Formats: sequence, C-alpha cells, structure tokens
Amino acid sequence: MSTNQSYGDDILQDAQSGWKPLVLTVSSAAQKSSWQDAIHRVLKPHFVCRGFPYKNLGGRLWRPNIIIDLRCCLAAFALIVSSFLVEWPLYVVTATLAVAAAALGVQLARRYRAACANVMAVWMTDQGDVQPHIVANGFGSYLVGAALSDPRGVKVRNTIMRSAPLPRQYPWLQILRRARDINVRSEIVRANLLTRLFRLLPLFCEDMGDAGSHGFNHGDAVHTAGSDGYCEQCRLKAFAPIHNVTLDLIDGRESEARLYIQGYWLPFLWNIPIYEYQILLGHGQRILELLRAGRFSEADEAAGAVLDREFDWTDERPLRQWIKTMVNNYLGFGGQMALADDVVHFVSDRFLPNIAIAHEESLKSDEQNEKVIQSLNPHLAMARLVETAVRQQWTRR
Ligand SMILES: [Zn+2]
Repeated sequence: MSTNQSYGDDILQDAQSGWKPLVLTVSSAAQKSSWQDAIHRVLKPHFVCRGFPYKNLGGRLWRPNIIIDLRCCLAAFALIVSSFLVEWPLYVVTATLAVAAAALGVQLARRYRAACANVMAVWMTDQGDVQPHIVANGFGSYLVGAALSDPRGVKVRNTIMRSAPLPRQYPWLQILRRARDINVRSEIVRANLLTRLFRLLPLFCEDMGDAGSHGFNHGDAVHTAGSDGYCEQCRLKAFAPIHNVTLDLIDGRESEARLYIQGYWLPFLWNIPIYEYQILLGHGQRILELLRAGRFSEADEAAGAVLDREFDWTDERPLRQWIKTMVNNYLGFGGQMALADDVVHFVSDRFLPNIAIAHEESLKSDEQNEKVIQSLNPHLAMARLVETAVRQQWTRR
C-alpha cells in the first residue's frame, strides 16, 4: 500500500521556483476569522492559504437560516402564542398556520443551504487551482461536502473535515467517481451536547447529520484509522480514500494547536503517512541532540537505522535508496551527474537533523525563517540540501 500518490519529483523543481500548493480553509459558522488566521500562520511557509469569506453568504442573521428560516420561525412562534389567547375554532386555525409557517421555514432553509453550497462551489472553482487542498471545520465541512456534490464537479485533493455535520451515509462513492484524487481525513470530535443534537438534524435537514461525531459509513470507500492515520485495513486489504479518525485532543492553546497542525495536518497534506512522519521527526531530533553533544558515531548509527528503513511514502524503498534516486533525478535536470555520489552523502548526513532544525525554528515565538521551516517537508528538506550541496561543490571546483 502506498499513499504517496503524485507528490514527488515535481517538488524538487517547485522548491527552486518558490511555487506552493493551495490550501482553502473554511471555518465553522460560529468561529471568528482568528481560527483561520491561526491555521494560516502554521501552513503559510508550505502552502498558499485562502480562507472562505463568510460575508459571501449575506447578512448577519444567516446562521439560524441554515436550519429554519428565521422569519418563518418567528411567525410560527407568534402564532403558537396567539393560539393560547383565542377561543375555539380560531385556536385550530392559528395552530395550523403555525405548523405551516414552520414547514415553510424548513423548506426555505433547504433552499438557503443549496444557495450557500453554490456560493462555496463557485468560490472553490474561482481560486485558480485545479485541485486545491481543503481544511474545514464544523459547518465549513458541510459547505465543502455540499459543494463536492455539485454536479459541475468541484475537484479537490487532500481534505480535512473536522466535526462535519454531514449525514453518515454521505454519498462518497458518487463523489469518488468524479474526484479520483480526493483523500479525506474526517476528524471525529467526541460527541458533546451540541453534536448529540446533530443526531436530530436529519429530521429537518436530510442533507445534514452527525458524521462529525460518529463518522462516515459508506462501504469500502470509508475506513476507520488511528489519529496518526494508521489503518490496518488499508495495509491488509485495499486502500480507501476516506478515513474516520477519532481525536482525543479537541481544542487547546495555540502552541498545542500548532504542534497538532504541524504533526498531523502537514504530513497528511503532503501525502506522507503521519505515523511515518513522526518516525522521521523523532529520529531527527534524537540525531540532532547527539550531534550537538559531539557523539558523532552514535549519531551515525542512529541515522543509519532510519536510512535503511522502508517507508510507504518512499514507495516502500529504503530511505537511503529514495534519497539516491531523488538526487539523481534532480541532478539529471542540470546535467551535473558527476556530483551525484558526493551529493547523496551530503544529503543523507543532514536530511534527518534538518527536519528537526526546521521543527525548532517553527516553534520560535519571535521572527522565524520561512526557508528553514520549509524543511519540515521531507521533499523540500531534500531539495534544499541538494541545492546547497551543488552550490558548495561547484564553488570548490
Ligand atoms: Zn484505510
């Protein structure tokens, strides 16, 4: 099994051009733009980030209109109250009108949600990237889900949906027929009072539900994985593009959120299994510690153990072999193959510690060096090292 789809050699050229892939973020209805800003701060060194502007959905009173049209709801309430004040048979008339107003409110809300989904679909396609990545939370996940169902076919790649108020039976198979490259991490936040109420949503809104607290359920297309993305079914049977993931952590301080986004969302967006990324980072940190303590032979030994290891994201090749292939591809572009062996050594020695250095840089509270942080991405870490190695070798000759 490999989740390393098409994210490989091109990144080497992108590293030089400064091109970054696009991530669209869609907050929940109740969140302020600070949620998007906090996520953008972490993603910005690696991606171009754009947040969905909720003002596109109209005035300030749009939120209740998602479930029931506010005017109809108020009218129904007024009619119910007045039904207690009048005599039979007028009482029956006002009660009937109240039910009719509520039913009309539910109908209007359905049309309003469809209009919101249309605004989202148009916004997503207007962003200029054929297949952006998506990070969505709460009602934002609903909007993304509804936009994906749009018959005009909005296409996206890696998609994080957190607490999605979509039906458990959301038609993923239908979506997958159009959007083959989609890879979804559906983050289930344990049910709280609010999300328990989502169970009632399908009574009024058949297009909404409680997948955000119970997970999607759609045959072979959906699996349940660990929070680090490890999925036994993908390993033993067949790969599924949708994974339900239950989170222990809900919302923490900004520093915790940063670690979570860096440790979980970034590798997911890069198509690197999270559990494998954690191995790289953990060993990188250990090797860096040993190097700083002057324990070079232990550092060599620790690095050797990881470099000989096979990973899914390196197409099940030993990491050492992957570095060699990538360096050869990279140098081949510039006709500098004579340098290959030197460059492979240079990259292999520094690859893991550089990921750890990038991690340290990203945690700085003062001014951060974006280029250093970009080495959190193993592909970019390698590309940057190749560039440095070639520059150094070139100067020496
Ligand atoms: Zn799976």
